[in-house]
Amino acid sequence: MGRSTRASSGPACGAAEVPDEVHLYDDLHAVIQAGDTASRADLPPATLLLSSLRAAEPFVLLNVSFGDQAVMTRRTCGCYLERLGWRSHLHTIRSFEKLTAGGMTVLDADVVRILEDLLPARFGGAAGITSSSRTRPRRVSPGFV
Ligand SMILES: [Zn+2]
Repeated sequence: MGRSTRASSGPACGAAEVPDEVHLYDDLHAVIQAGDTASRADLPPATLLLSSLRAAEPFVLLNVSFGDQAVMTRRTCGCYLERLGWRSHLHTIRSFEKLTAGGMTVLDADVVRILEDLLPARFGGAAGITSSSRTRPRRVSPGFV
């Protein structure tokens, strides 16, 4: 679907308590966390579950996980976004299904395929045996170079 929780969260809080704190567009989405029921669904307890609130949304969401977890708070921050009505905050938003590096997001299943199939096919070796482990230098005591 290509949609992320960040799409439903608003801009950075003007009085953030942590560097990545954002407001949640809670007029667009209802957001709950998996909590104690998470273990039955094999999800982390802080998993964000989104439900759409507007009839005009292209997709109807009902407790959908996009693989993100976060700390969710409701506090008085005093910034202009709170005055507009957005009082819920998210911070420490992390994916438990995707890996992001260098601006690219890759699903965890794809990371395994890349590490176990594509890289060994291109550069040799096998899963679990990397070129660095094959060429690891001997331990040398200081003074015996
Ligand atoms: Zn704020």
